[in-house]
Amino acid sequence: MLRQVAEGVLTHESEFCQSNAVVVQGRAGVLLIDPGVHGYEMAALANDLRELGQPVVAGFSTHPHWDHLLWHARLGAAPRYGTARCAATARDWLSDPRGKARIAELIPPDIAEQVPLDLLGLITGLPAGMTQIPWDGPQVRIIEHQAHAPGHAALLIDERGVHVAGDMLSDALIPLLDLNDTADPIEDYLATLRLLEGAAGDLDVLVPGHGSIGGADQVHARIDQDRAYVHALRDAHVPSDPRVGPSATYDWVPGVHARQLQRLARRSERDGTPG
Ligand SMILES: [Zn+2]
Repeated sequence: MLRQVAEGVLTHESEFCQSNAVVVQGRAGVLLIDPGVHGYEMAALANDLRELGQPVVAGFSTHPHWDHLLWHARLGAAPRYGTARCAATARDWLSDPRGKARIAELIPPDIAEQVPLDLLGLITGLPAGMTQIPWDGPQVRIIEHQAHAPGHAALLIDERGVHVAGDMLSDALIPLLDLNDTADPIEDYLATLRLLEGAAGDLDVLVPGHGSIGGADQVHARIDQDRAYVHALRDAHVPSDPRVGPSATYDWVPGVHARQLQRLARRSERDGTPG
């Protein structure tokens, strides 16, 4: 079920929203990033890794949204990491007695029974300012930023040319802004795109959290496409963007776009400032 996208880097695409799990081969086992969504998919992934003789030695969640925080018992008990802010956000949710029930409400009802929540969000925050995942394998750089979710990390595996983008730079989903936790979600998003352009512009494989894996030609194209979308959102223009047009991969994305527009308009009314 695994597809090789670069030397020692494999991915698995979930049936849910084209979610990509990423496996990075190290010396004594693998690093598993955003393992997947359905219990049976994660169990099958665990079996494949066992057959390859590659135990999971570390896990990582790119950001604190339920579909990136899951785990399956058969993947084992390796340490699971995220940025300090990501782990703190997950911990806040889980320490609320109603937290898991509220997370369960976010899961589409048709797959809810397939999503195991018992090991959700049990991650260790890496010390703020730690710039690499601590593990015995290719160096994985952490670029923490404020777009999409608190403590979101983009991961750069420079020696393999791979950029693991989390919930950015997707060909299927528009930029989804963090409208809850930030003072200036538009500028945070644009600043992150500039940061990624500088840090990851030379890498030739792009693995988004949802959507298709991009080659070298896609790296700048997707940054430009996301920037154009955020500019359109900022200026309340109609975006000319295939992800919200008639050929959209997901028919619910135009509705998400409309809600983002509405919430931004309400924010600027409230603040009395444009944008
Ligand atoms: Zn997300």
